[in-house]
Amino acid sequence: MSTDKKIESIPLSKGQKCPTCQKPASLKHRPFCSKRCADLDLGQWLNEGYKIASEEESDMDEYDPG
Ligand SMILES: [Zn+2]
Repeated sequence: MSTDKKIESIPLSKGQKCPTCQKPASLKHRPFCSKRCADLDLGQWLNEGYKIASEEESDMDEYDPG
């Protein structure tokens, strides 16, 4: 039995696009086309995380045990 598939040599899947700007993804920065898009996406993700966290907090404030 020999399963020596080199994961690193697997090319980008066909039609993979940058989730930020929809340009073809680059091998180096996949799934993004560039570091800039990767950073942008990460920034958005973090911002949403903070938003959700603060919303949950105010939600607990309104909790009424009955
Ligand atoms: Zn992009």
